Order: sequence, then structure tokens, then C-alpha cells
Amino acid sequence: MQSVHTGDYEAVIGLEVHAQLLTATKAFCRCSTQYGAAPNTNVCPVCLGHPGALPVLNRQVVEFTLRMGLATGCTIRPRSRFARKNYFYPDLPKGYQISQYEDPICYGGSVEIELEDGTTKRIGITRIHMEEDAGKSIHDLDVDTLIDLNRCGVPLIEIVSEPDIRSPAEAVLYLQAIRQLLMYLGICDGNMEEGSLRCDANVSVRRRGSDRFGTKTEVKNLNSFRNVERALAYEIERQIAVLAQGGTIEQETRMWDASSGSTRPMRSKEFAHDYRYFPEPDLVPVEVSAEWIERVRAELPELPLARKRRLQEQYGIPAYDAGILIAERSLADYFERACGALREPSPERYKLISNWIMTEVLRILGERKIDIGSFPIEPERLAELVELQAQRTISSRIAKELFAELLSSPARPSELVAERGMVQVSDAGYLEQLVERALSENPDTIEKYRAGKVAVLGFLVGQVMKYSQGKANPELVRTLLLERLGHSDALAR
Ligand code: ADP
Ligand code: ZN
Ligand code: MG
Repeated sequence: MQSVHTGDYEAVIGLEVHAQLLTATKAFCRCSTQYGAAPNTNVCPVCLGHPGALPVLNRQVVEFTLRMGLATGCTIRPRSRFARKNYFYPDLPKGYQISQYEDPICYGGSVEIELEDGTTKRIGITRIHMEEDAGKSIHDLDVDTLIDLNRCGVPLIEIVSEPDIRSPAEAVLYLQAIRQLLMYLGICDGNMEEGSLRCDANVSVRRRGSDRFGTKTEVKNLNSFRNVERALAYEIERQIAVLAQGGTIEQETRMWDASSGSTRPMRSKEFAHDYRYFPEPDLVPVEVSAEWIERVRAELPELPLARKRRLQEQYGIPAYDAGILIAERSLADYFERACGALREPSPERYKLISNWIMTEVLRILGERKIDIGSFPIEPERLAELVELQAQRTISSRIAKELFAELLSSPARPSELVAERGMVQVSDAGYLEQLVERALSENPDTIEKYRAGKVAVLGFLVGQVMKYSQGKANPELVRTLLLERLGHSDALAR
């Protein structure tokens, strides 16, 4: 048999992403969409599918779908229809889901992703359509299966990509880009654990250089970025191994099992491919006027990648910083508010603000599990802290102490500095005394320094900082020490 290397093959991937829309009420009735309500309380005859109950479309669902469609450059169909997708499952009391089949409301768009090497790539969006969610079956209990119908009728959009993705890593980048867009648009909370964002992955492999696609499998149950990556990597290897042994891939739906790290075929009862789609007779076609489309387009916020590029340009911060700051719209807003509050704005100060956010601010948000909206230091106070630091009024060590104090105090940074005597000491006469003390307490350091052990300089600066309770201006201390140690001598050696 011919030997086969993984490198002889290329993966082809297309994702189907379901996003739960952040409407207050369901897609076709007035029931609340609140997550975590007592089971089977957010229900009514419409979402339970009682005979004779008629659905009425929630306009907000269309509005939100238009946002995503326009943000991904899709064409909007002025008139689209709903369809019934029929199947039996205990958590689907109606026996069908209202969805869109032919002629979805949005089609033909794309999403730009940034690859590891900094280049960008466009992933095509085949279509975005509206549908309703089914209920939830709870199997993992020590009792019979329980069913919660609160989720029946909660609005979703399904975003179907073209098979443009070529690796598990690209699939994750694409999914992250979709999630970020949905969150920027304020139409989905992006919570994969709670199921507000779900992803099915279609994957096939083919000989490198071939222009035909291989047979695909569809992998379900991917509830985190990590699982998307692991499941795809597993499935690609599995398919290559089958082909390498002369076998063929069966078109099937497979279930990802995170605990065993593998995929297995789903029992045929778990899915039915004949959904007998037909037009939904209880709903009129969805008509979207040109004015509606233009209004939504005009109201779109600045999108993540555009904002990233603008932050780099406008504030002169590195791409890495900008990427972190735009991860959430509110974080980038915080950064820009702080920059805007600077009395003497400068690229150095913008970078200091970015540094604070990327390290201390994000650390506190993570520790306290809060978002930037509840962060106790307002952007104006962070800006003031940065100005004190940039003017060398306070040392960076004092700045850290001050930051910690500001977390629990509503005071302004300048007030605290004055109150606590935190002002950085740049009085050369006083600092010279501390330098002398450091040298007399460590008599061997002069010899060591002159013998070429330049590292003792850092140690001596540290000693002076300690004597001054962190208030000494470290740059000045360094200069004074260099003078005292006979810097020019040391250099001459
Ligand atoms: P199905 O009829 O099985 O639903 P579709 O053509 O509607 O298949 O495509 C569903 C998803 O599968 C899309 O995201 C698409 O990009 C992807 N896809 C289609 N063909 C392939 C293939 N050969 N390999 C990988 N992904 C594919
Ligand atoms: Zn209802
Ligand atoms: Mg399909």
C-alpha cells in the first residue's frame, strides 16, 4: 500500500452557528426569554403549540437579524418566508420548529478574520436565517429525563459559513470573530456554556491540490472554543486515517465526546434528515423596506476589526494592545474615555493607560468576575493616575499602591497622593544622603562594581527605594549612584 502522510491532505471546514437573540420576549409570542427561570413557567399556548394558537412575529427579531446581516455584508431579501422544519422530539411539543429554508432573510456576506501571522482572510457567509429554539431535555440526572419548555420559541439566528475554513485554528478564529460581532451588535450575550452560542462543524478532507471537496461529516455538541478545536483536529485525523487505509468517509452526523476526546456516529434516531420543510401557513412573509435596512445600517456601531485599526492609528498603540482592548466593546470604550480625560494627552500616556488596562484592570475584573461597567476606578481617575505617573510626581511603585487604594476609595488620585505624602522625592540633596547610606551599609559593592559587576547598581537603587518607602525618583537615584561610583572609570575599563 502507498504510504500516506497527514501533510498530503487538507481539511475543508464550514460552520453552522446558532446564536440566541437578546430579545426580552420570544420570537412568536409574548413569553419572557429569561434564562434560568423556574422550569416550564415561561410558556403559553403559542410556544407550546396548542391547537388554534397563532404565532405573531416579534419585530425585534428581524431588527437584530438585520444588524448581523448588514455587519457581515450580506444582501437582505426584501421579502422572505418562514418554513416548518418537522421532526419529533420530546422537547419540541409542536412537532416542528419555525425556521427559514428557501430564501433566508440574509445571504452572501463574509467575515474577516486575522490569522496568527497578522494577515487577514475572508470567510464567506452563505446565509443567515431566523428560527426558534426547541426546549431542553435534561438527561444527566439520576432520574428519568426531565424536560424544560422555557426555551421553546426563543429566537435564534443560524449563521452558515461557506466551506472556506482550512484548519481547526481558523475555525476557532472565525467563531471568535462571529461571537465578537454578535456582542458588539448587542444581539447575543455570546455565552457558550449556557448555550446562547452553539456551533456545529462540517468537515471533510481532500488531497492537497485537489479542487473537489471530499465527503463531509457534521460534528455536533461543541460548547467551547477548545472543544471546537479538539473535535475538528480529531475528526480530521480520523478521516485521513480512513482514507489512508483505502476506506471511504460516510456522510453522517457525529457527536463530540469531550471526556474521551473523540467523535462517534449519532444513532440515527437522534437526527432525521427528512424534515419535510414546507412554508409556514400561519405567518405572513417578512417584508423589510429599504428605509428599514438603511436605518439599521446607519445605526451599526464601529465593528471590532475597524475599531482595532483605528485604535492603533489614533493612539499609536501596538496591534497586540488594540486586540486586547477591543475584545469587548465596553473595554475599548473605557480605554477611549480614559484617553479622552487626559489633560495633556500624549502617545506615552495612551500606552500607559493601555498597560494598566491590560494588566491590573483585567486582573481585577477576572478576580472579581465583574465587567468593566462595575469596575470601581472610573476612566477619569485612571487618567489622573497616569498623569501623575507620566509627570514623575509618583514612581511606578507608588502608582501601583495608589491603584490598589483607588479600588476601595472614591477619592481622586491627586488627593490621595497629597494626603498620604506619596509624592515622588526628586530632592537630590536628600537622595544623596540615602545613596551614602546604601554604600556604607554595603561596603563591598563599590569594589564589585568597579570589578565589572554592573548588576550591583540595580541592588543599590533597590536599597535607596526601600529607605525612601518607594518614593525616591529611581532615575535620579541611578544617576546619583553612577556619579558616586565613578561611572566614567567603569566605562573606561
Ligand atoms: P447540508 O445539506 O448537509 O446541510 P450544506 O451544503 O447546507 O449541507 O452545508 C452545510 C455546511 O457544511 C455549510 O457550513 C457548508 O460550508 C459546509 N460544507 C458543505 N460541504 C462541505 C464539505 N465538502 N466539507 C466541509 N464542509 C462542507
Ligand atoms: Zn409563549
Ligand atoms: Mg444545510
